[in-house]
Amino acid sequence: MTCIYPGSFDPMTFGHLDIINRAAKFCDTLIVAVLNNSSKTKATLFSVVERMEILREATMHLPNVEIDSFAGLLVNYAQARGASVVIRGLRAVTDFEYEFQMALTNRTLGEGQGVRLETLFIPTSTEFLYLSSGIVKEIAAHKGDISNMVPPHAAKKIYKKFDGTYQGGI
Ligand code: ADP
Repeated sequence: MTCIYPGSFDPMTFGHLDIINRAAKFCDTLIVAVLNNSSKTKATLFSVVERMEILREATMHLPNVEIDSFAGLLVNYAQARGASVVIRGLRAVTDFEYEFQMALTNRTLGEGQGVRLETLFIPTSTEFLYLSSGIVKEIAAHKGDISNMVPPHAAKKIYKKFDGTYQGGI
């Protein structure tokens, strides 16, 4: 079973990594796909290449995990990669409505193209319940400690973006 875990990953956090580690156990191949939609108005802190580098370094220990990027509709990318399952992480109830809408949309779009695409939701581990890329950026921008939110190699790159280092080291 080839699975795709799509997202912005701007940047990847321990919350994402937890989902990747757990999904890699039951997927034959897990493709972590960084969304590269330049039409999206949301400006990102990291380029697609930078986001992929962070993910690659964090998943080196997982031989069945591949880091890639995609643009356009997820169904088309899934079809091209021969994937039938989309992995998404769920934190609070607040994630649910958007995720549910996306899952139904992808399934409906897929059916129209003869592609079977099911979404599998993996509930977050409790320690990552309130962790998001946005929170990490906010804390790093104010030189706060993000060492329990992202791996050291990611933290270094994040602080660099904000032209500073955390007083506590790294
Ligand atoms: P997107 O912009 O597509 O939501 P994100 O990079 O923010 O991309 O998230 C990608 C996926 O990872 C989503 O399914 C999101 O719910 C999940 N995710 C993000 N943070 C966590 C976390 N702390 N625990 C579990 N899942 C998470």
